[in-house]
Amino acid sequence: MSIINNAIVKAVTLMPKPIVGFFSKRYIAGDTLEDGIRTVQQLNSKGIYATLDVLGEAIQNRQEAIHYKNQAIEVLEAIDKFKLKANLSIKPTQMGLNINLDFAYEQIREIVAKAKEIQSFVRIDMEDSSTTDNTIEVYKRVFQEFKNVGIVIQAYLKRSLNDVIILNKIGTNYRLCKGIYVEPPTIALKDRQAIRDNFMRILKQMFIDGNYVGIATHDKYLIDESYKLIKELNIPKDKFEFQMLLGVREDLRDKINNDGYKIRIYVPFGKDWYAYSIRRLKENPSIARHIVKSILTFGKA
Ligand SMILES: Cc1cc2nc3c(=O)[nH]c(=O)nc-3n(C[C@H](O)[C@H](O)[C@H](O)COP(=O)(O)OP(=O)(O)OC[C@H]3O[C@@H](n4cnc5c(N)ncnc54)[C@H](O)[C@@H]3O)c2cc1C
Repeated sequence: MSIINNAIVKAVTLMPKPIVGFFSKRYIAGDTLEDGIRTVQQLNSKGIYATLDVLGEAIQNRQEAIHYKNQAIEVLEAIDKFKLKANLSIKPTQMGLNINLDFAYEQIREIVAKAKEIQSFVRIDMEDSSTTDNTIEVYKRVFQEFKNVGIVIQAYLKRSLNDVIILNKIGTNYRLCKGIYVEPPTIALKDRQAIRDNFMRILKQMFIDGNYVGIATHDKYLIDESYKLIKELNIPKDKFEFQMLLGVREDLRDKINNDGYKIRIYVPFGKDWYAYSIRRLKENPSIARHIVKSILTFGKA
């Protein structure tokens, strides 16, 4: 089965962009900030929180990075203006991390300062392992000055528990997820259950040391285990939330919301949707299978 899935996933990366776009719609609010705002308002009306993300990553020059920084600030202004129950997620490479660390730090600092002004929060997403050290470095520098900023830990990385033990010392607001980038087995766990076990081990460490955690998963097993851990450790509700991606497992999203736990949905929007969509489609071979099928049957109906 996984061989078939791998083949399908490879095929998706070769698909024409408009077809990938058609099947990606469920994961993306739309092209514009207005689309993002509308989606957040719909979620908020159900008591669900959001984090807005302007799509775009691995940019090549400072001008592009400054453009994305300005867009991030516009998102914060919209959160304030429309009183959205939402915060902001940003990608370090979008802010210029691969160009220059000091430059990315200045950009992220400016965004976090703006967020502080409107009493909002900025989550620094975690990208592939070539950026982990620098992302943590930028986070630590910004955190020295502002507390309304948090980072992401990927449970598939073997280093993560150690990173958490160190970051817990300064008191960190985390998002914990499995991790989505393709990483070598030398540094990343590959076995599904081993990743789950590491996820739970890390979550426990975060809680025991008193940190706030965004538990970001659609895996029913991890959600059930998190419920158990929260009860076992008697973790108060203001110390965690669940997080999911737009368009994924809305049944589980509603269950968590109905169970009385805080849930936040990652709402990406923007014109640069392609890289994000390909990652989402690779994650879900059943959608990828639809795409392949629709291509193969195209014109035969
Ligand atoms: C809010 C949020 C923020 C994230 N931020 C980051 C980040 O900063 N860095 C990073 O590396 N990763 C990030 N991720 C992605 C994460 O690392 C995983 O790749 C992703 O969440 C899938 O893992 P899972 O725990 O949901 O488990 P899985 O085992 O992958 O999924 C569990 C079930 O959820 C459903 N599902 C999962 N994905 C999809 C999909 N795309 N379409 C339809 N159904 C699906 C399927 O039913 C699947 O069986 C984030 C995830 C979330 C929810």
